[in-house]
Amino acid sequence: MNESHTYDAVIVGGGPAGATAAHDLALRGLSVLLLDRAGRTKPCGGAIPPRLIKDFDIPDHLLVARARSARMISPSDKRVDIPIEGGFVGMVDRDSFDEWLRERAAAAGAVRRRGRFERVARDDDGTAVVHFSTGARAASSAASAASPSSAERSANSYVRARCVIGADGARSEVARQTVPGAEKTSYVFAYHEIVGRPATLPPDYDATRCDVIYRGSLSPDFYGWVFPHGNTLSIGTGSADKGFSLRTAVSALRQASGLQDAPTLRREGAPIPMKPLPRWDNGRDVVLAGDAAGVVAPASGEGIYYAMTGGRLAADAAAAYLQSGDARDLASARKRFMRQHGKVFWVLGIMQRFWYRNDKRRERFVSICRDKDVQTLTFEAYMNKELVRRRPLAHVRIFFKDMAHLLGLVRA
Ligand SMILES: Cc1cc2nc3c(=O)[nH]c(=O)nc-3n(C[C@H](O)[C@H](O)[C@H](O)COP(=O)(O)OP(=O)(O)OC[C@H]3O[C@@H](n4cnc5c(N)ncnc54)[C@H](O)[C@@H]3O)c2cc1C
Repeated sequence: MNESHTYDAVIVGGGPAGATAAHDLALRGLSVLLLDRAGRTKPCGGAIPPRLIKDFDIPDHLLVARARSARMISPSDKRVDIPIEGGFVGMVDRDSFDEWLRERAAAAGAVRRRGRFERVARDDDGTAVVHFSTGARAASSAASAASPSSAERSANSYVRARCVIGADGARSEVARQTVPGAEKTSYVFAYHEIVGRPATLPPDYDATRCDVIYRGSLSPDFYGWVFPHGNTLSIGTGSADKGFSLRTAVSALRQASGLQDAPTLRREGAPIPMKPLPRWDNGRDVVLAGDAAGVVAPASGEGIYYAMTGGRLAADAAAAYLQSGDARDLASARKRFMRQHGKVFWVLGIMQRFWYRNDKRRERFVSICRDKDVQTLTFEAYMNKELVRRRPLAHVRIFFKDMAHLLGLVRA
């Protein structure tokens, strides 16, 4: 069945970016369709900072664990515990977290629709027409492959949209079709295994600590992690090197963490974009948000907070455009995002390129993390999403300590 209804905004993708954009636009009283293909839990470590919990009113019941410290582990197995003073990192399970966000958008007035985005076409009057398939084929390709008769049961639909928000994740189809230059993005591929908490825990296991492991054999250009999630754990790694075996690395990480016999519940992976796209809009009526716009923090791979912030900024930009009719308003999403977070992304990008290059540098990097100033500034930046300007002397001290490490004047 096709609809000739014209929505103010059609949002493609119901992850953190799309659900946030749909919620914000519906709250303004605009007519919103939230289109999601559903059927697959997003592979994700699920770590979120307090700033996200505060900015987006996330209720306590969605937090399956609270991490109170991070442990950095070096290539030679030196361990640096970093307490998270006066706060915690929240852990969410993406199936319930994303669904809660979509339901919140629906409660605000957004219409939810299950369907796989196919293409943006144009009506005679130039209005965008969003085509999507519904039925069994609309679910993830993994699910549809399992159902041979799905092709017959799928159907095509379309809706008209005064504005489209592309929030369909990494390798966004909306971006590829509508925004020039989007296809040139590069990715890190991340893979993790969700395991059940074993009955007998490894001796040094701590359910309130995130382990971050820097070791070339676990990742030549990123890091490995063990994140506690209440009754489960996420054990993963990532790399941009296509020849690197992430599965072998995760197996080695499980062995090293004493979790080799924990029951494996899911094995899954997904690409993480490495750089914000140079353009997030098509200069007409489409704007991107979240992974679709390429916004994941370098070095950490943190994307949920930036996806939700991007969703909010895309909603603001779309609302401004819908009111003014001036397509230049759409560009404000990227401008405002880069003003707020561009510097942090730049610093993290340099950090990743320099410190994640070889085991000698990783060893030094973990060693630097022992420094109280580094710990405080890093965590304040993560928790509150700001480069802290209040403590200029600490920045100066860190600069000189960094130089000493870079020049090899300090032993790792
Ligand atoms: C293994 C791994 C671990 C990670 N760990 C963390 C972490 O601990 N903390 C953190 O902050 N970030 C983490 N990230 C990054 C984070 O998951 C992403 O940055 C975040 O999910 C981006 O949100 P999004 O809404 O932009 O996209 P997504 O979450 O990918 O959502 C996109 C949505 O679009 C839908 N969609 C896609 N294509 C179509 C289509 N054609 N039609 C209709 N709907 C469609 C999908 O169903 C999905 O619901 C991790 C990523 C990976 C891969």
